[in-house]
Amino acid sequence: MAIVLDGTPAAEGIALGRVFLLDWGIPLVPHRAVPPEEADREIGRFEEARAWARERLLETQRRAEERLGRVEARIFDPQILMLDDPEVVDGTVRYIRDHRLTAERAFEWRMLELQAQWSRTSHPMVLDRLNDLEDLMIRVLNRLLGKHDPMDIQLEHDAVVVAENLTPSLVVQLDRERVAAFATDKGTRTAHWAILARSLEIPAVVGLGDVTKHAREGQQAVVDGRIGRVILDPDEDDLRHFQERVERLRAWAGELELIAELEPVTRDGQFVELRANLDQPEESEEARRYGADGVGLFRTEFLVVGRHTMPGEEEQYEAYRHVAEAFAGGAVYIRTFDLGGDKFPMFLHMPQEENPFLGWRAIRVCLDEPALFRTQLRALLRATAHGDVRIMLPLVNEVEEVRQVRALLQEEEHALEAAGVPFNPGYKLGVMIETPAAALEADQLAPHADFFSIGTNDLVQYTLAVDRTNARLARLYKPFHPAVLRQLKGVARAGRAAGIEVSVCGEMASNPLAAFLLIGLDITTLSMAWPSLPEIKQFVRSIRAEDARRAAQEALQAPTGEDVTRVLSRHLADTVDLSMFEGKWSLSLSP
Ligand code: PEP
Ligand code: MG
Repeated sequence: MAIVLDGTPAAEGIALGRVFLLDWGIPLVPHRAVPPEEADREIGRFEEARAWARERLLETQRRAEERLGRVEARIFDPQILMLDDPEVVDGTVRYIRDHRLTAERAFEWRMLELQAQWSRTSHPMVLDRLNDLEDLMIRVLNRLLGKHDPMDIQLEHDAVVVAENLTPSLVVQLDRERVAAFATDKGTRTAHWAILARSLEIPAVVGLGDVTKHAREGQQAVVDGRIGRVILDPDEDDLRHFQERVERLRAWAGELELIAELEPVTRDGQFVELRANLDQPEESEEARRYGADGVGLFRTEFLVVGRHTMPGEEEQYEAYRHVAEAFAGGAVYIRTFDLGGDKFPMFLHMPQEENPFLGWRAIRVCLDEPALFRTQLRALLRATAHGDVRIMLPLVNEVEEVRQVRALLQEEEHALEAAGVPFNPGYKLGVMIETPAAALEADQLAPHADFFSIGTNDLVQYTLAVDRTNARLARLYKPFHPAVLRQLKGVARAGRAAGIEVSVCGEMASNPLAAFLLIGLDITTLSMAWPSLPEIKQFVRSIRAEDARRAAQEALQAPTGEDVTRVLSRHLADTVDLSMFEGKWSLSLSP
């Protein structure tokens, strides 16, 4: 019998495939005492699991060496060494004998003990070993529990990847040709892995609660990323309905591409600049086809997440240049690395933090890691010679951070000049408004910035103190909260007073109701995941900016987020046929 599960739509599209259960994380180990006469058998099982893990690691290392080279492949060395470390081996054997534990329980205890010991230090080398320790725990425990190796992800074609949750580095490691869709228990629309899924055009439904409990390996599944539904073991009716939806979406996509040719102008003549958010340089061509006039946000961290070495200047320069040339004549806003939060590249010694979104993230990491940052700045400066490349700083909180970046840029400019390397000295440097501190101090920041780009995904999370990746809090993540509206209004005003451009590049820009509000607040530059561009253009062409302004004025007086939504919908109802936005319209703005 088919099982229907509803969650949050996170990446559009509909797919049919077979379930691949990605059982990520340290498994639960049942507690069971074993009689003394079985101790040798348990030690034997532990030895077998160690030998197996060593073989798997060597095999993975061999494959990594073929694909990435010798140096990269050495990242597996510490895990291989740890397998023979007397601290691990003797400790586990002692627990089996002295405490009459099963091999898995003894190994788990010993590893948790080492983890606690090592966590007390802040030495980066030791902290790095913690990740190795965790990976090793996952491998060996799964072997002892008779489960398959979750670190060795070999997908069949049309895999519907079902997991408790995912991370950006996991997503970039998967063979994208083989992934049909994602379905997760947890996760939110604004989690970075979900954003990445949208860029990769892989349908995703998140926040399903317990899809991992219902799904069985190899089972057929339909994932509808537009309405947020997953059907396990679909029956004939479901499959027929799936085909119909595929055809409807195909027809809809054809229409959207025609719209891409049209001007984004409201019925009363207000031009709205529509730009694309990109996560990978290769998306440039598709984004153009969907009608993007420029790139409002290029998230550069996907050049580094999931990699073992820092990307070099040349490689980055080529990536930035590719985007700049693809958008000749349009502006291209390239954001400096926004690492930390939920994006951790393997080569950076990132500490394990209690609150990563309130921790060492974005501009803070860049300013503390000059080798990483200067390399990126040089690559960016060189890319300015090939188009209107603008440099954008994430998570800025105060003027001092912008000053420091300007000083670094000046030094790098001098070095490039001295070396005779071309760049455009008139490039623009701007900041993202992503924290209440930045929003409230926008008038102080404005003289130091050539533009503002409001990152509403983060601004909402920090304003409301609601983790954007926490599915349990999804209903509290309210982009229409009056506190958010006030900040949007204040930033727009500060930007206007200083004569600099203010745009929005968070998810709000791709929601018609929110776009109506933003245009009403005179924020007429919107950047979004490029698949949404035709739809928003169609929306822009169907409204009047004058109505949007009136609606925004009234919305600013509304006492709650729900009231704001009601006000906006009411003002729209007379002019727009809401049904033309199909599932999108009902898409709540929860993350
Ligand atoms: C944002 O925070 O709104 C934003 C665009 O940046 P990111 O989603 O990459 O954090
Ligand atoms: Mg952000």
